[in-house]
Amino acid sequence: MTIPTLSFFDLGLMDPLLRAVRTENYVQPTPIQQQAIPRLLEGRDLMGCAQTGSGKTAAFALPILQTLAAQAQPARPRMPHALVLAPTRELALQICDSFKVYGRNLRLSCTAVYGGVGQDLQVRDLKRGVDILVATPGRLLDLMGQGYVRLEEVKVFVLDEADRMLDMGFIVDVRKIIRALPAKRQTLLFSATMPREVTSLAESMLTDAVNVAVTPVASNALRIDESVVFVERAAKPSTLSGLLNRPEMSRALIFTRTKHGADRLVRTLGLNQIKASALHGNKSQNERERTLEGFRSGRVRFLVATDLAARGIDVDAISHIINFDLPDEPEAYVHRIGRTARAGASGTAISFCSWEEMDKLRNIERLIKRRVPVVDSQLLPATAASSPLAIAAGKPVGQHGRKVFSSRGPRRSGLRRRTAW
Ligand code: AMP
Repeated sequence: MTIPTLSFFDLGLMDPLLRAVRTENYVQPTPIQQQAIPRLLEGRDLMGCAQTGSGKTAAFALPILQTLAAQAQPARPRMPHALVLAPTRELALQICDSFKVYGRNLRLSCTAVYGGVGQDLQVRDLKRGVDILVATPGRLLDLMGQGYVRLEEVKVFVLDEADRMLDMGFIVDVRKIIRALPAKRQTLLFSATMPREVTSLAESMLTDAVNVAVTPVASNALRIDESVVFVERAAKPSTLSGLLNRPEMSRALIFTRTKHGADRLVRTLGLNQIKASALHGNKSQNERERTLEGFRSGRVRFLVATDLAARGIDVDAISHIINFDLPDEPEAYVHRIGRTARAGASGTAISFCSWEEMDKLRNIERLIKRRVPVVDSQLLPATAASSPLAIAAGKPVGQHGRKVFSSRGPRRSGLRRRTAW
């Protein structure tokens, strides 16, 4: 059965919203928008299996804006009409920005509240009354405890990135917040993956929900040109420098495993005349926002981030994702590469894998149910190839002239059948 392609107009959106998406140059709704928006406008609960990059923010923001605009009732101080919970402050800020962008032709207000910064400005907004509140769980509970937020008038509640929320240990907070919501409300839950904890949370909070699943991990990655480069740990910085000097590296997000590793890498790149910024949890909120803004504006082309800090980064036109270190958790690989190839664009993801990381690569491939193609060293730039690159095609040579990989990987890895090298 072929599903007809719908336009934004077909979805039943009101004119001010249609004009806003036109201003954003959105030509066509993404699959999740096509499936979710009409049902949400009917007031249905929704369980959405979708990851960042699928257009899920507009899928919930547009109908929420329409519902609140139709109700034409300004929010009273401290009593928002819509509540969106997000796991990180970056994501909360981005969601709030999206509400402002899509709601630019409406008179509805949106504020984000999150920890790590003083609460005064957030409290000021809440006292004035906000229609849509986007919050991280901890700060929201804090503000509720002080009487600055009351949830009795929430008509629509969104739990975004539920899987990540649970991973980060927010389940108790989330349940507390849900208990403070009115029973009569519309509820939306989004999650990139659907582990059992998420489905049981969904069962407890949704009523007669519509299920929408789009861009499962494997198919989403089809637009992403993925590859793995085998490189000895000590040679990773010089290999990376070579890559970053390539002209097509217009905007790259580079992942390290640790905050310390991110800082160290930025310093090493600096020694090679490559300007990069680090984004991680040890930076102050102001620093993080400045860094992200620099990356968004193109002033900084290379951002080195840890998984947590990069969560929810919504910067268009990231040309390359580079996994300088492979993540400990295979799911993080999927989240990382999802930062490129946003909304129909294509992107490239290159992973560096050292001998010690072979098991991690194997776990990733198990999760994504496909092999990540191995890139031949010839595809690397001359600077990198002449640097102490771990493996030269066919003849793996390490930093000290010794052989690094005698085969496609260590014997136990189960990857030896792949003979690309
Ligand atoms: P999200 O999955 O909500 O994080 O959205 C990912 C990116 O897709 C954002 O940069 C949006 O601006 C963009 N986007 C959302 N909907 C559309 C659309 N219908 N057409 C083109 N881009 C879109």
